[in-house]
Amino acid sequence: MFRCFVAIALTGLLGLAGGAVAVGDEYLNGIRWDKPAIITPGESDSQPPSDAIVLFNGRDLDNWHNGENWSVRDGIIYAGKGPIRTKEEFGDCQLHIEWSSPSEVKGDGQGRGNSGVFLMGIYEIQVLDSYDNETYFDGQAGAIYKQTPPMVNAMRKPGEWNSYDILWTGPRFNEDGTLKSPAYITAIHNGVVIQNHFALLGDTPYNRPPKYKPHKSVGPIALQDHGNPVRFRNIWIRPMQPIGQEQARSPFIRKGDREIPIEPETDAN
Ligand code: MG
Repeated sequence: MFRCFVAIALTGLLGLAGGAVAVGDEYLNGIRWDKPAIITPGESDSQPPSDAIVLFNGRDLDNWHNGENWSVRDGIIYAGKGPIRTKEEFGDCQLHIEWSSPSEVKGDGQGRGNSGVFLMGIYEIQVLDSYDNETYFDGQAGAIYKQTPPMVNAMRKPGEWNSYDILWTGPRFNEDGTLKSPAYITAIHNGVVIQNHFALLGDTPYNRPPKYKPHKSVGPIALQDHGNPVRFRNIWIRPMQPIGQEQARSPFIRKGDREIPIEPETDAN
């Protein structure tokens, strides 16, 4: 690729010197792109943009299974009995969620402000009060549970609000059920990147190694009940897919009104 670029650049310079080639030769990739949808961002980056699906409306948990066993007061969700999971299911997505561990510090290690956000209902990014609270590192807040710690500990103090912004790519499975590509997660905690395109090793249980079991391409967002009074608010999601494209023709260089095909590269460079 570099060699190709140099060749084109040299051709341009020589052309200029000789006066035979017009300035501004243009590379065209031949791809016909879909027009990116126009959306309206939120008033701040934590607020849902116009194309987001709001998973918590501030009033009730009607969008969630088992919502009747958790509670909502003053626009805030309080963890209750058993996990809650969205009725709608999602694959690749951008997820925003805010959470707070109890302001009254009780317990330690895994017993302090424990919950979790489960992507596709299976893969947990840990929610825990990890402010001045040591536990095993691949179990602290922002860890992919039992797989990797967060790169840094960006916790706010107990009782303050934390945010997770998560970019999720679900795993792909072959028709025979074998793994085609793993799940990937990028996560930002309070504006700080803590997971960067981490390839998950499988699911995230407590009592055995992670493994992949084939499942469909969508699943719920679930929040864990770990017996601690963790709070949540401002939860929204955007399903993601790459922009549509079609290779309408082969790449070429436009020189004035001439079009010069670009030969495919034949060496490994
Ligand atoms: Mg947990």
